[in-house]
Amino acid sequence: MDLCFLPAHELGRLLREKKVSAVELAGAVYSRIDAVESRVKAYLLTLKEEALNQARAVDAALASGEELLPLAGIPLAVKDNICLRGVETTCASKILKGFIPPYDATVIERLKEQRVVFTGKTNMDEFAMGSSTENSGFYPTANPWDLERVPGGSSGGSAAAVAAGEAVLALGSDTGGSIRQPASFCGVVGLKPTYGLVSRYGLVAFASSLDQIGPITRDVRDCALLLNAIAGHDPRDSTSAPQEVPDYTEFLVPDVRGFRIGIPREYVGEGIAPEVRAVLNRVVELLEGMGAEVEETSLPHVRYSLPAYYLIAPAEASSNLARYDGVRYGLRVPAEDVVTMYKRTRSQGFGAEVKRRIMLGTYALSAGYYDAYYLKALKVRTLIRRDFDEAFKRFDLILSPTAPTPAFKIGEKVADPLAMYLSDIFTLAVNLAGVPAISVPGGFAGHLPVGVQFIGPPFAEGQLFRAAYALEQEAGLAAKRPAL
Ligand code: GLN
Repeated sequence: MDLCFLPAHELGRLLREKKVSAVELAGAVYSRIDAVESRVKAYLLTLKEEALNQARAVDAALASGEELLPLAGIPLAVKDNICLRGVETTCASKILKGFIPPYDATVIERLKEQRVVFTGKTNMDEFAMGSSTENSGFYPTANPWDLERVPGGSSGGSAAAVAAGEAVLALGSDTGGSIRQPASFCGVVGLKPTYGLVSRYGLVAFASSLDQIGPITRDVRDCALLLNAIAGHDPRDSTSAPQEVPDYTEFLVPDVRGFRIGIPREYVGEGIAPEVRAVLNRVVELLEGMGAEVEETSLPHVRYSLPAYYLIAPAEASSNLARYDGVRYGLRVPAEDVVTMYKRTRSQGFGAEVKRRIMLGTYALSAGYYDAYYLKALKVRTLIRRDFDEAFKRFDLILSPTAPTPAFKIGEKVADPLAMYLSDIFTLAVNLAGVPAISVPGGFAGHLPVGVQFIGPPFAEGQLFRAAYALEQEAGLAAKRPAL
């Protein structure tokens, strides 16, 4: 039995039936890490000893007859912008080298209550700025389906770890597509929850009005189980919604009869690779075959998502990243006076993309330009949100490709930031509108997986799970895995 490729819900059953132990499971995952990590490089740091201790505690609890929570003993990888107490957290930035958070993020606290086994911290684009994990301040991660290609980003390490069998579950964060696009490139499931559904306490901020933590998993049921564990109100995050959270597994019925699904014509026009279009067409056929009604619709303002996002996100980032000054966190490059120390620390600590964003954001917020850029972008954001409100009066869900292409080659887009930014063209609007979206495998382009994205109204994660689950059952792709 290949333990490290089974989904968490099956592993949970095997644990409870005492057919495997948590220590065996953790051992299987670390053997897999030993076998493939030198090629994939999904992790910045692994936690083998701690993980085995956690696994032993789960086995002891089970032996003493304790009732285990659904994710007990399941190996889970954590994106390196989420604080795990006592474990170095760098956001893949040299400027945070040596920063050890003295507290747990709320999502981590909740997963500790579940007795999840934390495998390690995963690689990412520095401060989550990027779409390929090539902006990591340390090294790029490879796509397990094709080692010459990127895993997507910025949660590339988390998606690659799940796809390669180096973790069963993972946490990512999504500001403009960073969970969904890597999920699409790596053939796994990724959910960006409604803004406010999952606490951001302990997530290192990139663009606070857009950031959300979410699950990256092997199948849709695992995604629902992980969301069950991390969702819900948190008084420590003032943007957290005081919302009752349902049991998302109750939505996992393979039935989309009567579902009205809209495909925005803005998302199937130019710029989408023919093989991605072919996957989308096939998905539409499958959904219609199951009784859903699929129709073309329009989101007239989503074509302004990219410019609006690249003003709002850098503006927030320029303010959030001001705290890395060499005094309070991580790296300090000493100098004779404090201003020179700030300058040297920031020049050496931040990578090129992060500097570009800080400059863009500072410019957009500066006196005289604020109205022309930042304020205007906020108005466009409102128009985009209204487009979704309108669409959801007629449709239960919106369907689109997750990304315009399958995984691209390492190095292919590094010299052209705009080409890189375009990789999120279908995911950005979702964050601007604050609505939830899931990427689920839809098919293959040759040897490369291609995901599709379902977008729903605020707090309609259940509906997303239902459609994604139905598609997963019908498309039968969940069992596919990379050869590596
Ligand atoms: N790729 C987008 C960016 O570079 C989105 C990143 C993200 O979602 N964190 O900003």
